[in-house]
Amino acid sequence: MNNALNPRELLRDLRSRESEMLRLLGKFVRAESPSLDKTSVDDFGRMVAAEWRARGARVTALRQKHRGDHLLVTSRRANARSTGRILLLGHMDTVYDKGSLVKMPFRIAQGRAWGPATFDMKGGLVLALFAIDALSRAGIHPRKEIACLWTTDEEIGSESSRKFIEREAKLCDAVLVLEPAGEPRGALKTSRKGVGEIELRVTGRAAHSGLKPEEGINAVHELALQIARIAKFNQPRRGIGVHVNIASGGTRTNVIAAEARAMVDVRVTRFADIRALEQKFRALKPILPGAKLEISGGVDRPPMERKMSAALFHHAQHLAADLGFALEENASGGGSDGNLTAAIGIPTLDGLGAIGSGAHSLRENILIHELAPRAALIASLLATL
Ligand SMILES: [Zn+2]
Repeated sequence: MNNALNPRELLRDLRSRESEMLRLLGKFVRAESPSLDKTSVDDFGRMVAAEWRARGARVTALRQKHRGDHLLVTSRRANARSTGRILLLGHMDTVYDKGSLVKMPFRIAQGRAWGPATFDMKGGLVLALFAIDALSRAGIHPRKEIACLWTTDEEIGSESSRKFIEREAKLCDAVLVLEPAGEPRGALKTSRKGVGEIELRVTGRAAHSGLKPEEGINAVHELALQIARIAKFNQPRRGIGVHVNIASGGTRTNVIAAEARAMVDVRVTRFADIRALEQKFRALKPILPGAKLEISGGVDRPPMERKMSAALFHHAQHLAADLGFALEENASGGGSDGNLTAAIGIPTLDGLGAIGSGAHSLRENILIHELAPRAALIASLLATL
């Protein structure tokens, strides 16, 4: 059934559609969709849904009260001979507040498309649509049924989408994540660190710092001592990252601080290190007499270990060679929803989205020339997995 697959043919077709891809990208980028603004995210979601419906897909909105509705897209008629399923995974929310377009309008310059979320990851959403188009224009029917899950809260930790991501991934043989990939060559992400947040809360006792300091228990001092301990949990060589990035406490300079709090960013490369690291935190004991210490949180996105991506990456490398380019891989210190699908044992390949730079910044952009090869790679994967 896939004898018809000619990757170079797909690529030629997609090259001829570059300006259409850019037009759609411009439309998507102008529909601002910050994670916390449900109305805006839903408006954008309707735009995305319309594109898929226009291609004959069935779109189900997974209704949310506080976040934008997630979208589940499935082919209306699964191929009669289809065996298995592939999930395309991406997010529609962005880190940019509404109005960001004023400072960073969508524009084309220097071979790049610039603007909020061009790279992370509206470019990826456009690629998925054109990959499907290319397959149907070439008359290629993927062996497996294709489903897409477009979520609305990836940039804020995927709290509301996690159960849908896990539910859909469990029905699939492979998950292809359309997160962006860095230039120049757009290396795929074959491993990602696990990520979490741990909070420390210290309670001491207030007192006048001049008259009766001995009656106080200084929570800020206690927190500082704890931070010095925590800093030693950091083991970069082993892929364990522990960074206290927020600390606060106290009320007045002449009041012994009664309360203090710190937020710690924790990252691990190995699944097996999660428990030991969390236990180190839970084992922390107050140092100053009378101080109270509460610890909460932990690793909520487990690491995506390379073994969950290796076979898919190998396959993608062959397809890329057929398309005429070399595909590279790298490890990311950041998490994505790919961490969630890999953690439940579903082979996952991440970083298949647009190639560019400047994620989450005023300089966010993608390389226009790489859109067609990337879409062709996605299409080839869908056709051959
Ligand atoms: Zn992203």
